[in-house]
Amino acid sequence: MRLLLTGTTAARGMALGRARLVQPNRHLVDKRPLAEEEIETELGNLHRALDAARVELRDLREKLHGALACEVSEFIDTHSLLLDDQELLRGLDDLVRIGHYRPGAALKKQRDRLVAVFEAMDDPYLRSRKEDIDQVINRVISALQRQTSVEERKLAARVGEILIADTIAPADMAHLVGNGLLGVVASSGSAYSHSAILARSLDLPMLVGVRDALSTIHDDDLILLDTERGEVVVHPTAQDLALYRAKQREAAQEGRRLATLANAPTRTRDDIGIRLLANAEMPADIAMARARGADGVGLYRTEFLFLRHKGLPSEDEQFIAYRDLVLGMGGLPVTIRTLDLGADKADAAGLVLRGEDNPALGVRGVRLSLRYPAVFTTQIRAILRAACYGPVRVLVPMVTQPDELIAVRTLFKLARQDLKRENVDLPEKLALGAMIEVPAAAINVRALLEHADFLAIGTNDLAQYVLAADRGNDGLENIYNPLQPALLRLISHVIGAGRRAKKPVSLCGEIGGDVNFTALLLALGLNEFSMHPSQLLHVRDRLATLDHGALRRLAPQLMRAHTHEQVEALLTKIAEESAA
Ligand code: PEP
Ligand code: MG
Repeated sequence: MRLLLTGTTAARGMALGRARLVQPNRHLVDKRPLAEEEIETELGNLHRALDAARVELRDLREKLHGALACEVSEFIDTHSLLLDDQELLRGLDDLVRIGHYRPGAALKKQRDRLVAVFEAMDDPYLRSRKEDIDQVINRVISALQRQTSVEERKLAARVGEILIADTIAPADMAHLVGNGLLGVVASSGSAYSHSAILARSLDLPMLVGVRDALSTIHDDDLILLDTERGEVVVHPTAQDLALYRAKQREAAQEGRRLATLANAPTRTRDDIGIRLLANAEMPADIAMARARGADGVGLYRTEFLFLRHKGLPSEDEQFIAYRDLVLGMGGLPVTIRTLDLGADKADAAGLVLRGEDNPALGVRGVRLSLRYPAVFTTQIRAILRAACYGPVRVLVPMVTQPDELIAVRTLFKLARQDLKRENVDLPEKLALGAMIEVPAAAINVRALLEHADFLAIGTNDLAQYVLAADRGNDGLENIYNPLQPALLRLISHVIGAGRRAKKPVSLCGEIGGDVNFTALLLALGLNEFSMHPSQLLHVRDRLATLDHGALRRLAPQLMRAHTHEQVEALLTKIAEESAA
């Protein structure tokens, strides 16, 4: 019988496939106490399972390639580190040896303990990523099960399947897409979680918050995932299928039409030119950015080099990565962001401080770089050397006050003097910009503009700090909403200040590449959008339908809205009027 479930759209698209359920605690854990003579064998099993999980993560990393490998590597690294984390492992042996728990039960007990206390722990990985603990332990339990059962791991082949899960680890998602997964239905999670961001980049349709999915859908049920309507249709009727085929034909046509925009200029309907930049980290991103006609790179996140590295990347390693990026863009401007470690981005080399009570409000971004002038100077030297190969701008993350920019400039000056003494080629003066992602920086932006040559608004963090709402927390969706008037006023204030100071302002948060926000950002006066390269054509297409002048005239009305619901209603009205 046809059944309809609803959820929140995390990544657009439609899919028709067989359901594959992954129950969060589907592994039956044997609770019978161990006999004395079983202990050593079971300890061996536990350690083999831990090793197998480590190898599995390493294999996953090796299989990854393409645009997302870099982002996914970050999660794999976090999970690999968790597998070696003493906090996580502590007591596992004791539970088996002294408590006579079987390994599965010991893992489950340890998970329950850690999840319950993770917020009080010193380790930033554990505190910020409860989901990771769950996913890592499930991976070990799966490995353990495989030792005693012939059942193939459920996450193996996915051709023609739609995954129904509580949550899904980003690393698994990338791997499954390679194996033909068609879509994801998650019973929890938020549209701003890392998995959701990844699904959008992978073009994988995804619905989150489909509460009853795991209890109502069964393995192999035929399901139709329609993210446009936020619906999962279980056992679709002939009528549903006819509608699906019609939409599929439309989508194919749309794809062909968008492809023709690759070399088109980016202009609004009233012929105002807009700059579209790419957020790019990997060679495949650079290739896509060029193929889709980006005007440059608006955000290159250098921390990914540090997250993947066991120790610290050397000056030469960094230089080669930055130089290749610059060469890859063939003379188009490239914005290299200095190290943005801290909060949930912790490096393997241990730069990030442990034991901060609140790492999201702690020593992260430029605050951390300035704590380690030698490490920062190595990065600065690499950037200066790479900038001889093409136009480079330098972007500083998590700026709060002018003295941070002054300090960064001083370090650049000193590094130049050293390189000059060493007879190394030096570029012309580099533009130095500030990320605007801390509320104080947005409010006091005029002071920063005295020291910055350009600004880039990071709405992912700005929203989370303005609204005091963690973007990955699915309980806060009604608060973490980019249409919140307080956020819009700040964005408008920053854009206005940049215009008056005649300094470029771009926006590189997720909303920059989301066509649902394009009209709004244009209304607020934005003329430089930076986004994942997969979004470039969609945004270019949307801009061509929008009237810049008319939208700018509507800005005061948008600014007067009191709630995000009012902003949304206004935007819907604007869209209807312009379509009429
Ligand atoms: C942002 O905060 O909006 C941003 C682009 O930076 P990141 O996502 O790397 O924190
Ligand atoms: Mg940020």
